[in-house]
Amino acid sequence: MSPSVDDPRMNSAATAETLGWTRGLCFVKFAGNLSKLDLQVYEKNDDIAGTWWENVYPGCACDIPAHIYQFMWALNPFWSHYYADGKEILQYFQDVADKYGLRKYVKVRHTVVDAKWDSATAKWTVELQQADGTKFTDTCDFLVNGCGLLNNWK
Ligand SMILES: Cc1cc2nc3c(=O)[nH]c(=O)nc-3n(C[C@H](O)[C@H](O)[C@H](O)COP(=O)(O)OP(=O)(O)OC[C@H]3O[C@@H](n4cnc5c(N)ncnc54)[C@H](O)[C@@H]3O)c2cc1C
Repeated sequence: MSPSVDDPRMNSAATAETLGWTRGLCFVKFAGNLSKLDLQVYEKNDDIAGTWWENVYPGCACDIPAHIYQFMWALNPFWSHYYADGKEILQYFQDVADKYGLRKYVKVRHTVVDAKWDSATAKWTVELQQADGTKFTDTCDFLVNGCGLLNNWK
């Protein structure tokens, strides 16, 4: 049986490339509580919040009620509109990241360009590119792809 992340045999378990920020935020909040987990998030943009950081066109807003477009563990009773606008949602995600100290897990301006599973070492090797073009690799036991279905749509 494989050891769990809290098993003393697991000294560290790097994880998680690309958790950009909407679903990623939720994962990081709970994974960050695991003492044996060495958590790293790579985000290609200059800041967190994914969809809501990138889309700034006039009228950009949520098409479902803001009260259900939020985390159950970080409820915001102050939404200004039933369908909150993009700016307000962006602020919400950034406030949640700040309140729960989640930014420390994120390296922004880091794009994941490749990921390969190595069955000999039972680890992922992830290739990354920084904004200045520098490339490097990282390895991890668990890789969570949170790059967003709509982020690079074709
Ligand atoms: C304009 C717009 C309006 C929307 N409105 C609604 C709505 O009203 N209601 C609703 O339910 N949903 C809406 N959506 C869908 C929305 O995408 C999801 O609700 C949610 O934001 C998805 O979260 P996510 O974390 O999966 O993806 P995203 O928020 O897209 O986050 C993905 C992140 O991964 C990063 N990333 C991608 N590729 C890489 C890479 N190779 N390396 C490093 N980082 C990478 C991106 O920079 C981004 O930060 C809307 C989407 C768009 C585009």
